[in-house]
Amino acid sequence: MKRVYLSLGSNLGDREQMLRQAVALLEAPDFHVLRVTSVYETEPVDRLAQPWFLNLVLEAETSLLPKLLLARVQKVERRLGRRRGVSKGPRTIDIDILLYGQSVVGTTELTIPHPRMSERRFVLEPLAELAPELRHPLSRRSVGELLPATAGQAVRKARER
Ligand code: AMP
Repeated sequence: MKRVYLSLGSNLGDREQMLRQAVALLEAPDFHVLRVTSVYETEPVDRLAQPWFLNLVLEAETSLLPKLLLARVQKVERRLGRRRGVSKGPRTIDIDILLYGQSVVGTTELTIPHPRMSERRFVLEPLAELAPELRHPLSRRSVGELLPATAGQAVRKARER
């Protein structure tokens, strides 16, 4: 079993409902959700002219290998009506694999740790709620140490866990 962290985001439709459904759809005999953070409302980072996101991070235990975990999250994205439209544009649901234990994966389809996790406050702030001491497997810096550099990005708690 591996301890994994996923980032979930939505900025289209009933955002909170999308997050809730995604968490429920991810739960499976081979993927057990352990903890879910509060919901955060966050400013889009890559493409500013789009609605704000709701984001959360979840911690889970899984027997799925990374490639199969990616296939699983993509299946959930499709179930929730994710369409590949504008790159980095609005989406009903986006699910990123942040960390897979302390493993490092680098293939054409999958990069773990997620390459942009250390720069994104919408990832780090929720993650710090669950695991501030957790270390990035490559930089060896903890979530709590990485957080201050992202202070300029607008992230506010929308709903307590
Ligand atoms: P996006 O459109 O932002 O959901 O990006 C999805 C693409 O990113 C997929 O084609 C994945 O193969 C790729 N990808 C690479 N690394 C990751 C990761 N750690 N988690 C999720 N998707 C990833």
